[in-house]
Amino acid sequence: MMIIAGNWKMNMDRASASALVKTLSAEIKPLTAHLDMIVFPPAVLIDTAINASPSSALAVGGQDCHFNANGAHTGDISAAMLVDAGCQWVLVGHSERRSDHGETNDIVAAKAEAALSAGLKVMICVGETLAERESGKANDVVAAQVLGSLPQDLPSDRFALAYEPVWAIGTGKVASPEDVDDMHNHLRAVLIGRNPDYAAVDILYGGSVKPDNAAGLLALANVGGALVGGASLKAEDFLAIANAAPHS
Ligand code: PEP
Repeated sequence: MMIIAGNWKMNMDRASASALVKTLSAEIKPLTAHLDMIVFPPAVLIDTAINASPSSALAVGGQDCHFNANGAHTGDISAAMLVDAGCQWVLVGHSERRSDHGETNDIVAAKAEAALSAGLKVMICVGETLAERESGKANDVVAAQVLGSLPQDLPSDRFALAYEPVWAIGTGKVASPEDVDDMHNHLRAVLIGRNPDYAAVDILYGGSVKPDNAAGLLALANVGGALVGGASLKAEDFLAIANAAPHS
């Protein structure tokens, strides 16, 4: 099933989070017949988001987790804590984690493994910088991120991949449908090369997805959804993006 996910990043408060989730929950029932809808609030707003969602139609995920199960890691949260809070998903390897916190592929793979062990589904993020794209290295960089960030023996029904070119995140510069098509076809081949079972894994595009560009991106053969940052903070925009998704 195609996935439309909202990454709230370090935004919102209890009142705005509750209002947004209530509006989404009231509207998404018909959409969830053909879409998985997920929001990734900041950790302290997970409880608020879950309490504001009367049905389980809207899944909630954490934006990160530690690779250890517990212990002396001040400021971090574990995958089991996310499960305990009611999360079904966790994002790992977002480019802002890779750049702000120096997360390597090995760390991302360890986090994904911890998340799987705790019972979460993982959305693993990859994407090249502008310099890497301009020097013609985007395909190689992203393939290396995928191969390095996926834990061994990762079941195909427990993860999604999100391709987010760093230069398109929060910049308003969306990748062209041609570039997204090329990269997603490449990523499909990389996934299948790793494991033939990955033929049906959703590969989401992320990077300045908005209501006016969503339909063109979501119609592409190997685009299995969208990971939306800025536009996921407004119910109207997030719903418009979900409504732009094809029904099959
Ligand atoms: C993101 O945070 O994953 C993202 C894609 O952000 P934006 O949609 O704001 O570019």
